[in-house]
Amino acid sequence: MSDCLFCKMISGDIQPDTVYEDEHVLAFRDINPQAPTHILIIPKEHISTLNDLDPGHANIMGQLYLAARKIAEDEGIAGPGYRTVTNCNADAGQTVFHIHMHLLGGRNMGWPPG
Ligand code: 5GP
Ligand code: ZN
Repeated sequence: MSDCLFCKMISGDIQPDTVYEDEHVLAFRDINPQAPTHILIIPKEHISTLNDLDPGHANIMGQLYLAARKIAEDEGIAGPGYRTVTNCNADAGQTVFHIHMHLLGGRNMGWPPG
């Protein structure tokens, strides 16, 4: 997707503050962090929203969680705890239409979320 911000990060046209990358995912620090640790984990395949998932995406969605687990360990938030969030469409506040997992930690998150 040539007009997708996150696809441009995957292609290297835009260089984010990368914290982790493998063949399936790219992870980088959010430009507007909402917690001391706020990292976005994205699949290298363009999928617009959770509504666009099909069974063929099962592996890539699992890879997002495996990356979150590893990054949380690296960031020192695995023990204290963290939250993963994926927003879908307007009511959840999705603004970038390439599926991404927010990895948030370093403070108490509170519940319920806003
Ligand atoms: P959403 O609201 O779609 O769930 O999350 C999009 C996230 O992307 C927001 O937290 C926003 O701060 C982040 N974001 C938007 N543009 C950029 C950018 O150019 N670089 C980085 N690193 N994050 C961005
Ligand atoms: Zn994309």
